[in-house]
Amino acid sequence: MIYAEADMNTEPLRVDGKRLRKSLESMARIGATPGGGVSRLALSDEDREARNLFIQWLREIDLEVTVDEMGNIFGKRPGQNSELAPVMSGSHVDSQPMGGRFDGILGVMGMLEVLRTLHEHRVETRRPLVIVDWTNEEGSRFSPAMMGSGVWAGILDRQWAYSRMDLGGKKFGEELERIGFKGTSPCRKWPVHAYFELHIEQGPLLEREKRILGSPEGIVGILWADGYIQGKANQVGPTPMEGRNDALCAAAEMILRVNELPGKMGGNLVATVGEIQNYPNSRNIIPERVRFTLDIRSWDDDLIRRAWEEMKRDFQEVSGRRGCPIRLEEIWKVEHAPFAPHLVQMVRETGRQLGLEPLPMVSGAGHDASYMNQIAPTAMIFVPSIGGRSHAEAENSSWEDCEIGANVLLKCLLKTST
Ligand SMILES: [Zn+2]
Repeated sequence: MIYAEADMNTEPLRVDGKRLRKSLESMARIGATPGGGVSRLALSDEDREARNLFIQWLREIDLEVTVDEMGNIFGKRPGQNSELAPVMSGSHVDSQPMGGRFDGILGVMGMLEVLRTLHEHRVETRRPLVIVDWTNEEGSRFSPAMMGSGVWAGILDRQWAYSRMDLGGKKFGEELERIGFKGTSPCRKWPVHAYFELHIEQGPLLEREKRILGSPEGIVGILWADGYIQGKANQVGPTPMEGRNDALCAAAEMILRVNELPGKMGGNLVATVGEIQNYPNSRNIIPERVRFTLDIRSWDDDLIRRAWEEMKRDFQEVSGRRGCPIRLEEIWKVEHAPFAPHLVQMVRETGRQLGLEPLPMVSGAGHDASYMNQIAPTAMIFVPSIGGRSHAEAENSSWEDCEIGANVLLKCLLKTST
């Protein structure tokens, strides 16, 4: 049976919301945390377990499964014309440490539910459909983020990705091999007709505007850097306050400057220090070394560049005054990604057909869709995050909204693949 758009209006095909909920709940048990979240860091044992379950589910609906050299997992459903470029959708199964049960996994389970629905109703599409789980989207254990899609898209180097280390000194490539997901198929882009990613909003706008569907114009630009401050260790008692080179105090001042940066620069900018290591981290030693991370985001790439220049000047000033040299390493930069207007339009129209009032917005969070956007026409589908919370155990979305998001995805996939 072929579903043309006209048929869908008379005989609506819908996903099974209960089944979607069950898949999300099963995944949430892998790496479950006491506060109701998940900790499923990239290439951890939990990541492996989730991947294995995912592959088992793909095989149950006869998808052709491939794992590439970066551990990206693809499941392909043939189309009537397999010569045609496929329509692709997915997201990531990895999570933040103490992250939530919806970030990433909703996009993967949402697409799985769409494919199960098509399988169950024996719906054929003209183009093949591909579901994907991208490796290490979060970038929390191994930076940068969106590594699997970045290498696949040809923007990040695979060998460089393999050499990235976590804080315990373990290399990405070795861990990929350890969990058995260093696949053999080349990690290289192929033609994709359209890419959709269903995701939770991770912000408060949809809830505030009382809308169920968000339709982002694109994703903000992001810059990541690391700062390494060198101080001088000494006994805290006998060492007078004057003349100290306290690396932690220097870091504290710099962190506050980062926090003040958006107010100073104006425009649509956010800047955050989210991670810090202090050495030797002892009550009675003047801190000798500090490492901290910096994250700057904006829709305006030039504003990011100017903010980063300003930040470097500020850091040098603090560093000079406190006698604590700083080394800055710029580790990742991705420009803002405006999505394909015709697909953004399609998401909005589809929402309206389902009786929703889509909210136009911009995604402040990075997603694999950002790299995919450089390869293929791309759009995202957002559903609300309760209380705007994400990257936290408290992250939550209603089952109904997840189901609605999956139905929007289903309709968009049918429109682009038939
Ligand atoms: Zn995500």
